[in-house]
Amino acid sequence: MKKTTIKSISRSLLALSITGLMASSVFAQDRFAKIEVKAEPVRGSVHMLVGAGGNIGVSAGPDGLLIVDDQYAGLADKIAAALSTISDKQTRYVINTHFHGDHTGSNAFFSKNKNATIFAHENVRVRLAAGDDTDPASLPVVTYEKGVKFHMNGETVHVYHLSNAHTDGDSAVWFEQPDVLHTGDLFFKDWFPFIDLNSGGSVAGYITAVETLISMIDDDTKIIPGHGSMANKADYQRFVDMIKETYAYVQAKKAQGMSEDDVVAAGLEDKWDSWAWQFIGEERWIRTLYK
Ligand SMILES: [Zn+2]
Repeated sequence: MKKTTIKSISRSLLALSITGLMASSVFAQDRFAKIEVKAEPVRGSVHMLVGAGGNIGVSAGPDGLLIVDDQYAGLADKIAAALSTISDKQTRYVINTHFHGDHTGSNAFFSKNKNATIFAHENVRVRLAAGDDTDPASLPVVTYEKGVKFHMNGETVHVYHLSNAHTDGDSAVWFEQPDVLHTGDLFFKDWFPFIDLNSGGSVAGYITAVETLISMIDDDTKIIPGHGSMANKADYQRFVDMIKETYAYVQAKKAQGMSEDDVVAAGLEDKWDSWAWQFIGEERWIRTLYK
């Protein structure tokens, strides 16, 4: 498959999950049938699984597996199969970076079939529990307010909560010794980010969260973004620079008295064109920045 095709499929699946259309439709099942879940080594104990939905981070070693996010329920068997190519050990822990369905869809599979314990920020449990027909097995069992650390495979895995950014329940995960950061949806590499203003997210909070994470890493840190390919600090800096510049641009137009629709009609500077994608095009990004 061409790279562009994979991109457009993963983008449309993300859009589906967020609009809630994917729940159990035959259409979505069909789409998942064509999705491959592939494991890529990142560094040391850490691997990344790419399929559809949020990238999955994996720590694998003698104590077992810890995974960060688990994409869609329809991909659970493929995720398990990809994990088995890395290690035959049990998946003991799942961390949800936030509640969106393209990051938490296989929770029930891992808790029921693999006896894994799910960890997340408190608001992730609250938001998942509020959903229609939520399987109790999909809910995080251990919740935290500020973060938690895992000590396994001879390493330390730090989980940090960042407040009111992509949602009100975001976590980022830093695998200390291999020096790998999983950002959850606090990073869409080279794309305008989705900021879920209806679920406690905010543009200012998102910028603060990204800058906090950037201040914690160095040029050697490998980054697994929520969406997009493996990245580094320079990529992350370029991303936050884009957000700050477009935010300042839209806020300046607003201060001049332009309405939201007027700013949409005027558009952003052409240099940002390549950041637009199916789910967050220029119009949606402007409307997010204006509010
Ligand atoms: Zn998300």
